[in-house]
Amino acid sequence: MVENQIKELIPYLKKRGLRITPQRILILKTIISLKNHPSAEDIHRELPYISLATIYNNIKLFVKLGILNELPYGNGISKFELFKSNHYHVICESCGKIVDFNYPNLKEVEQVASKLTNYHIHNHKLQIYGLCSECKD
Ligand SMILES: [Zn+2]
Ligand SMILES: [Zn+2]
Repeated sequence: MVENQIKELIPYLKKRGLRITPQRILILKTIISLKNHPSAEDIHRELPYISLATIYNNIKLFVKLGILNELPYGNGISKFELFKSNHYHVICESCGKIVDFNYPNLKEVEQVASKLTNYHIHNHKLQIYGLCSECKD
């Protein structure tokens, strides 16, 4: 499954002029297989032979190219996920864990905002804060 996702990403990366190196593939594979919105440190723990600075630089590049979402929420450490549109995040205020959820009805907020302000709306973000099931006990 990770292999398939990588295979789909490679043509996109090439089109954006990114050089495909084994290191970059490895970083992307790690992010996909870690699933739970890893931080740069989490990725470094899996790939200790790649320096944290290199991991960080590549992640920033992936964010700029729109391949990764950066989630600067919770405990002040940015976390990352493969780009996915139209979903929201619930964040644990104690441990910083982030979980995805969907709520398609919220699209209406954009129409309301547009109507009330006459802005041309591009997108919206929503973060919900609370305590995860482990931290609330
Ligand atoms: Zn928690
Ligand atoms: Zn997400």
